[in-house]
Amino acid sequence: MVCRARRGTNDLSRAGRSPAGAWYLGRGDGRGVWWCVAGSCSRGLSAARLGRALRGSVSEAEAAALRELVEGRGDAPGAPGVKE
Ligand SMILES: [Zn+2]
Repeated sequence: MVCRARRGTNDLSRAGRSPAGAWYLGRGDGRGVWWCVAGSCSRGLSAARLGRALRGSVSEAEAAALRELVEGRGDAPGAPGVKE
């Protein structure tokens, strides 16, 4: 969890990182990072927090890439398609 809020999974977004280092949104293999769909929690996806959540090292560039991915989609995990 990036933030300390306790919510149901319907209110949370998830991202994971593939073994190749690419971010994906939604559920998948391996460790993931969760944050609230509502509010500004996605802005708290810092390299330090991501590294803690994933038990690995995450660079600032990688954290920025995830934030771009999240903001570009802005959608619930598993939702079909991308909103225009
Ligand atoms: Zn939150």
